[in-house]
Amino acid sequence: MLYPGNKKFSRISTNCFDFSDAVVYNNKVRWFYKGIVMTKEAIVIGLGLSGCVAARLLADAGYSVSCFEKESHIGGNLFEEIRPNGQRVQLYGPHIFHTDNEDVYTFLKRFGNFYPYTHRVLADVSGKVVPVPVNFTSLSKLFNTRQASILTEKLTSVFGVDKRISPDELLSSGDNTLIGLGKYLVENLQIPNINRVSEESQIACDDSYMYDTFVETGDNDNYYPDKYQAMPILGFLPLLENMLSHPKISYQTNTDGFARLSLVEETGSFLFDGIPFKGPVIFTPSLDILFDYRFGHLPFRISNITHEDIDQDYYLDSAVLTNAHDASCVRIFENKYLTLIDTPGTTSICKESSYSKVINKQFEPFEPAINKESLRIYGKYARLAGKFHSLILLGRLACYKNMSISDCIEQAMKELPVK
Ligand SMILES: Cc1cc2nc3c(=O)[nH]c(=O)nc-3n(C[C@H](O)[C@H](O)[C@H](O)COP(=O)(O)OP(=O)(O)OC[C@H]3O[C@@H](n4cnc5c(N)ncnc54)[C@H](O)[C@@H]3O)c2cc1C
Repeated sequence: MLYPGNKKFSRISTNCFDFSDAVVYNNKVRWFYKGIVMTKEAIVIGLGLSGCVAARLLADAGYSVSCFEKESHIGGNLFEEIRPNGQRVQLYGPHIFHTDNEDVYTFLKRFGNFYPYTHRVLADVSGKVVPVPVNFTSLSKLFNTRQASILTEKLTSVFGVDKRISPDELLSSGDNTLIGLGKYLVENLQIPNINRVSEESQIACDDSYMYDTFVETGDNDNYYPDKYQAMPILGFLPLLENMLSHPKISYQTNTDGFARLSLVEETGSFLFDGIPFKGPVIFTPSLDILFDYRFGHLPFRISNITHEDIDQDYYLDSAVLTNAHDASCVRIFENKYLTLIDTPGTTSICKESSYSKVINKQFEPFEPAINKESLRIYGKYARLAGKFHSLILLGRLACYKNMSISDCIEQAMKELPVK
């Protein structure tokens, strides 16, 4: 890419020009993103994890960042509150941090201390409570001694020891015993109606469900295989608050992103308080909102999440108990396992009902209801969004896909003009 042959310009950074770059023009630093001149000001809409990470990365790179969040609090899906019994809970459902990406973990640790955490999940299968992913201990509880021994021998001889096997691998193994096990896992352990990685696959997209239908060829009962699993000692909310604590970040809650920002479709640009805004606009809510639902609502599944306090030390034997066949409560979480807050004689649990679909935004969206039609609608919005060169879509809602905490941070690091 060439800069104008004008002495007023000089290039100050040469790597990844197509992505972002800077030149000095009239003694001022000007930034380019996808070839467009940007100012060192940015707007972030939505202050869930993706918005907070974006704001911080941009501020660290020298941008003045104005952020808008429609709720009365930041944190989005990671929002936490303290129950009357002193337990800290995540209002929209518990989250576990896990990643293989060291840069992601290093970034998060800048904003709070973590403690090592191993996530353990149990499943209730017709009254038998077993570890998931299903391991050799689970097999011995689910099947009689002869069947369990045939299954363990077969799994070990075909896949080896201490391996994690997906239901897809079992179903396509060509071996009737293993195919039977694969079917059993899908029928008995898979939470209904969840997004799967493809129509042909039985693997769930959401990694908090993903390993429910996997098998471990051994006795490992650690739910996540990732290198790093940890929880923030003080919770996720203080972590996000620390992220936003930067002299170049200002934010307003109770403020719809469109209160001050508007689109100029003819030019693919934005007005901020009525004045053309040239900096990056980071958008994290659902994309249909940005274009006033013109191609229709994007469907999201919702789940009914309820919290209860119980007068006993512990309620469960692990952080999570699933029951795929109980639509009124497919998962119970016990918060005590996810924090270091031990309140004797009292505990808090979170119950999750089975998914149902909604097409409006009355409820907190749980996951995009992905199918051919919803992806077609999303494609239309995404094409329109592509005409706005300074617009950057981040996060699970704007990108209309299941994303973990780690995915959101990795995406922000990759997509923002901060290198
Ligand atoms: C129930 C559940 C459990 C999960 N568990 C895990 C887990 O254990 N581990 C893991 O790694 N990941 C987990 N995830 C994924 C994780 O929650 C997300 O990846 C992450 O929190 C998404 O952050 P986000 O900022 O993209 O979206 P959100 O958190 O949804 O943030 C979007 C923000 O935009 C705001 N907003 C919306 N409209 C407007 C508007 N018009 N103007 C201004 N602001 C607006 C919203 O209020 C919200 O604050 C889970 C997800 C769900 C749904």
